[in-house]
Amino acid sequence: MRMSRYLIPTLKEDPADAVITSHKLMIRAGLIRKESAGMYMYLPLGLRVLQKIINIIRQEMNKAGALEFLMPELTNADLWKESGRWHTMGPEMIRIKDRNGLEYALAPTHEEAFTNAIRMIVTSYRDLPVNAYQINTKFRDEIRPRFGVMRSKEFIMKDAYSFDIDETGLERSYQTMRQTYRNIFKRCGLDTIPVEADTGSMGGSDSEEFMVASEVGEEILLLCDACGYKSNQERATCQYELWPNKENEEALEAVDTPNVRTIDELVQFFGCSAHKFLKSLIYVADGTPVMAVVPGDREINEVKLKNALGAVELELAPDLVVEEVTGAPVGFAGPILQEGKTIRIIFDTQVQHICNAITGANEKDKHYKGVNPGRDFTITEEADITLVVAGDKCPHCGYSLKEKKGIEVGHIFKLGYKYTKSMNVTVLDQNGKAITPIMGCYGIGVNRTMAAIIEQHHDARGIIWPMSVAPFHVHLVSLAKNEAEEAMANELYLLLMKAGMEVLYDDRKASPGFKFGDADLIGIPIRITLGKAFFGDSYQVEVKLRNKDEKIIIAKDSIVTYCHNLITEGLKALE
Ligand SMILES: [Zn+2]
Repeated sequence: MRMSRYLIPTLKEDPADAVITSHKLMIRAGLIRKESAGMYMYLPLGLRVLQKIINIIRQEMNKAGALEFLMPELTNADLWKESGRWHTMGPEMIRIKDRNGLEYALAPTHEEAFTNAIRMIVTSYRDLPVNAYQINTKFRDEIRPRFGVMRSKEFIMKDAYSFDIDETGLERSYQTMRQTYRNIFKRCGLDTIPVEADTGSMGGSDSEEFMVASEVGEEILLLCDACGYKSNQERATCQYELWPNKENEEALEAVDTPNVRTIDELVQFFGCSAHKFLKSLIYVADGTPVMAVVPGDREINEVKLKNALGAVELELAPDLVVEEVTGAPVGFAGPILQEGKTIRIIFDTQVQHICNAITGANEKDKHYKGVNPGRDFTITEEADITLVVAGDKCPHCGYSLKEKKGIEVGHIFKLGYKYTKSMNVTVLDQNGKAITPIMGCYGIGVNRTMAAIIEQHHDARGIIWPMSVAPFHVHLVSLAKNEAEEAMANELYLLLMKAGMEVLYDDRKASPGFKFGDADLIGIPIRITLGKAFFGDSYQVEVKLRNKDEKIIIAKDSIVTYCHNLITEGLKALE
């Protein structure tokens, strides 16, 4: 491709609205442009990268036996109503009506669409297992689109859905995808951290997220360097510090604590550690107030709490609700309820071990001390609902966990019967009996993968593409000064093209500095420079790899073989 005939609008300056490296470099290297908030157009160079990533995903999915489909992006509201998600998807789902008043969603995901497809097509156990996938656009009405293509309103996803006759089959499909995802990201040159992930209110099943470590990541990962435990913070557990040996139980005593509300204020007031307090927070879960009780030095993990409650929606209760259910202003709640008050209480699993604790007395400016579970309140429901943080002990080996921020690029998940049951999918088994297939789902954010590759592969001058996803393999920079030299450069360009190489040929009339600057910014792996030595009579070219500093001089006659080997080696290293 001749750059004089191509459109690569490179920029010297970072765009004002870009905060992360990949966003800045994608704009500056002329890969994308913003159309409006959360919506980006891919320019020719960017599209080549996107298509290379898509091809890798497609090849690996096909190798795993998955079948490619293409679903409408406009999905009928009836399908969403059948699964019940028309009402639970919330404002992130874009809903529209056609001229006849029929309702549709611009698909944010396709579980319903694929479940419906299988319901229509598959009738016998002989047709299963099926892993159906597509590479298609998704829509999400983000409140705050940001970080370029990392969080946009419209994006390309590879989404796959497996259907098996039983759990053993699902386990096989899931394990195949676990390996396939590792292959895909490795081939893209992306170093991912697979972590255990939350499985939602379904509980129990396996789920794994593929994270890319990043300073701007919105997910927090807990990692153990000793045994390799890796988990999303939403799901992470730990070995909790054991409570000190049981003291003698003190008598329950109400203490005046005027305006002492927060744990910090209590620590100061009572002169003991935060560990000694019970923190009681009031939430509203699906419209009903509940109390969650954790040790005072712990934060509540709202995802774990939501799962323990089996709730769809969970939020902190407004002050008015707190006053109504506890009989006291905010800051004085506790598990010893006032007479006549009732509320569902979930205790963290550590609470049962506490001895002589301090809690709110459900009365203004009063706390109880000498609080003991069993004697002063009954633990009716308990669950692990605390947030695990850096420094906590690994649940497997006890080593100190560390935190890292990450961006999710892929997610695999055992979905179970949620959609096949709600949408009445059955197939006939060997005995002619109707059975319900079990599902798994598997997603990869394609645009996000592209951005994540740049986050991992760049330097101060620009992008450093891995060979597998580079828009071109060779960047041929001609420093020709006259027509005769241009003819010589053209000849070499044609030679490389004839050898089947993907070549971006800088034949523009511009200064060497300008051309090299663009080459570094765009980040094509192999740069070949045609300078004095070439145009003189030695016919030598200079080869420089984008990820190395040294320059190598090669005779013109060997250049095809030399580049060919570099490309093959570059690709092989990623397999
Ligand atoms: Zn460990």
